[in-house]
Amino acid sequence: MQVLVYGAGQLAQMMYLDGAALGIDVQAVDVSNNTVVHPVSKQPLDCSLEQAIERADVLTVEFEHVPEALLETAEQSGKLHPNKDAILVGADRVREKALLERLNIPNCAHRIVTDLTQLDECVEALGERLIIKASRDGYDGYGQWRLSQKADLPALKKQLKGLDLVRVPLVVEQMLKFDREVSLIGARNVSGDIKVYPLAENLHYQGQLHVSVAPATNSDDALTAKALEIFSKLVEGMDYVGVLAVELFQCGDTLLVNELAPRVHNSGHWTQAGADTSQFENHLRAVLDLPLGDTTNIGGDAAVSAMVNIIGCDDHDLALLGLPGVHFNWYGKTVRNKRKMGHINVTASGYKALGSKLEQLSGYLSADHFPELVDEAARLQK
Ligand code: ADP
Ligand code: MG
Repeated sequence: MQVLVYGAGQLAQMMYLDGAALGIDVQAVDVSNNTVVHPVSKQPLDCSLEQAIERADVLTVEFEHVPEALLETAEQSGKLHPNKDAILVGADRVREKALLERLNIPNCAHRIVTDLTQLDECVEALGERLIIKASRDGYDGYGQWRLSQKADLPALKKQLKGLDLVRVPLVVEQMLKFDREVSLIGARNVSGDIKVYPLAENLHYQGQLHVSVAPATNSDDALTAKALEIFSKLVEGMDYVGVLAVELFQCGDTLLVNELAPRVHNSGHWTQAGADTSQFENHLRAVLDLPLGDTTNIGGDAAVSAMVNIIGCDDHDLALLGLPGVHFNWYGKTVRNKRKMGHINVTASGYKALGSKLEQLSGYLSADHFPELVDEAARLQK
């Protein structure tokens, strides 16, 4: 079986690694030049994009910002999962908000802005603490601006002046005081079977995910049921096939959807070491209409996992491999500021043990890059 992935980054690479064990050949498309490449070496393969599409059983994506024309061709082949509209929802916050409203799914109070004068109405309607997001091409906190008081509005307008808001509108959201960020990752296969992983609790730093813990601490059955209901509404509403990630804000007992990723997701990387079946394998199973694998944590009811991102550096000490239950994943990219370089998965028999392992792990990582890891380790050990 052959799966062609649009995008040739670490997510395609990890799909390749899990696919190989199942006899599934994963190839990747470098969408910057439309070449078909090996997902690990990134070396061009000896075939054109058209030939690769023809040969593949399924086409899928590792990121949502695939040029629309490419998605159109992929959809026409009849082999694309998830479907083009679902991918575009993940790539465009205006479409995303419209979907959430249509499906009646709780989300953050917001307005769509196509002209800077509308920002005054936003402050009137939503208050003066706002987060302003470009509706397309943003990620990891890029393409976002914040307003903390009305007096700063003129300066903000000046900053946004050059943007073409008719082409790329802004989504202006109320700045929420949430208790925490969680995400739900799950899969739906072509036959319509659904499986979700335990909720992950996500720690962000400067707009970027640094640490995930799964299952999330203090998550009872009611919260899990709410998340599952949201997930089911979304996949059925979009006729979605594949792994879908739903980023959520938790405020008390309420879950609000922040955003959707129509693909495997950073906050699901823990599944490689901590779950019976990884998100990468389950994505391949879903799009090829194979039975979905078990999504529970390995090691019994108390088993827990964490994922720690290595961001913008490569100065870790590989002696960390000596820690039990610690698994290292490297993407093979050149170091750049804020770039995700790799991640570390940690499994443990409970939160206290997990916290203690994270504390030990922090000793092998550059302290500058993980100011919050030590705090998270302490929290889990309480
Ligand atoms: P992306 O992940 O594509 O950069 P997000 O919309 O997820 O964009 O925003 C990045 C982070 O910014 C979130 O994970 C959250 O920490 C914070 N954030 C986003 N929207 C809000 C909001 N309405 N209120 C408070 N914080 C927010
Ligand atoms: Mg996000």
